[in-house]
Amino acid sequence: MRRLRNVKIVATLGPASSDYTMIRALFEAGADVFRLNMSHGTHADIAARHAIIRQVEVDTGRPICILADLQGPKLRVGTFANPAGEELVEGAAFRMDLNAAPGDISRVQLPHPEIFEALEPGASLLVNDGKIRLEVKECGKDFANCVVTVGGTISNRKGVNVPDVVLPLAALSEKDRSDLEFACELGVDWLALSFVQRPEDVIEARHLARGRAAILSKIEKPAAVKAYDAILQVSDGIMVARGDLGVELPVTSVPPIQKRLIRGARAAAKPVIVATQMLESMIESPVPTRAEVSDVATAIYEGADAVMLSAESAAGKFPVEAVTTMNNVALSVEKDPTYRNVIEASRVVRRVTIADGIVSAAREIAEATNIKAIVCFSQSGTTASLVARERPQVPIIALTPLMSTARRMALTWGLHCVITAPQDRFKGAVIAAIKAARDDGFAGREDFIVLTAGVPFNVKGTTNILRVAPCDERLISSVDPE
Ligand code: PGA
Ligand code: MN
Repeated sequence: MRRLRNVKIVATLGPASSDYTMIRALFEAGADVFRLNMSHGTHADIAARHAIIRQVEVDTGRPICILADLQGPKLRVGTFANPAGEELVEGAAFRMDLNAAPGDISRVQLPHPEIFEALEPGASLLVNDGKIRLEVKECGKDFANCVVTVGGTISNRKGVNVPDVVLPLAALSEKDRSDLEFACELGVDWLALSFVQRPEDVIEARHLARGRAAILSKIEKPAAVKAYDAILQVSDGIMVARGDLGVELPVTSVPPIQKRLIRGARAAAKPVIVATQMLESMIESPVPTRAEVSDVATAIYEGADAVMLSAESAAGKFPVEAVTTMNNVALSVEKDPTYRNVIEASRVVRRVTIADGIVSAAREIAEATNIKAIVCFSQSGTTASLVARERPQVPIIALTPLMSTARRMALTWGLHCVITAPQDRFKGAVIAAIKAARDDGFAGREDFIVLTAGVPFNVKGTTNILRVAPCDERLISSVDPE
């Protein structure tokens, strides 16, 4: 089973997509990665979905990537005496404080002492996805007196964003730490960190994960946009988390930021996901809007590794149709000759290592001739990600003996991951590459592939061989060295 596109599809699971039949249907429609959102659902729900995905993996014989998304330091107000909340009008005074007493039209609790420590007059507090805006006029250790600049209804436990201030918050709450350990023990492939503000936040999570999962930083705070280069350097992947980003910054700044983040991640050979509201109207409707199709297409033209569905697949009425739509947009864009031109023109590669040189040569040889696939052997996934960074025109098959590597790489642009027996002889590796290319329909016996490998085998960072091989093993055995 092979996909006929390079960009990957991430589908968030939720109440609309929690049984075997639906998860299998989403996979067959094109979902390569499933996102488990730790902000919703109990550990038992998460474990049940995880087990179903692993069952689909067994039943389809394809490595499937699982990403657990940690809630992060999401701030929320307390509760109100009136369960319907209160209507705040522009120009009115409103106070946030540490007092747990139920809120009213004049005040509510904000149970985060660290916020009051960091606030300054002039800062904005955004409530309920930015629908309500407050400006801080006066503040102290346990209160902030604000004026309402954009009114609306505020009610129990609504979320609060503080865009202007780097918050002295631990990147991982107690809940996040327990969710992280739970997800790692369950066996997820990626952990996504919400509201990352500094590289230290990522390093802390990496320390706790101890190699059990790769770390993806969600860029959704102005501070993270500013510190992007440093955050990228310590992360294994990036999410352009446009939902919160568009609340914390003007929405019109999101498209240029998206472009910059994708460029940076591509140059670093780290996967980047474009997320949120991609097919929002499909929560309710079986067909997307023109603008949504165009938005998905734009992310693909920009060379993103993956496009993501949130509520569309987790809680919408048409999860399978949403995945199918993304798949069809990808097929349409990727066969456009302009797509090729754009991808070539935006290839940002600084080649400094031997592996960089080998993968770029592999691409040039494959594209200049009638070679059917680039096959790479990758232990940790590093070489495969370098091949993907080249964004070649021919398919990439990534061979690895490690299931964990195959699953992680399933998020990366263009990688068709295959598990192979550990290799210790060059000839055996060539034969395994031919077999993978033929078995999964990439090449016939009369075709050629180009393969990259490292000798000695099974040592990280030794890519040093480029071989053009016929896909007929009878031709291999007579010529190749052991
Ligand atoms: P969320 O993250 O869906 O967990 O909020 C994505 C985003 O903010 O865009
Ligand atoms: Mn978010």
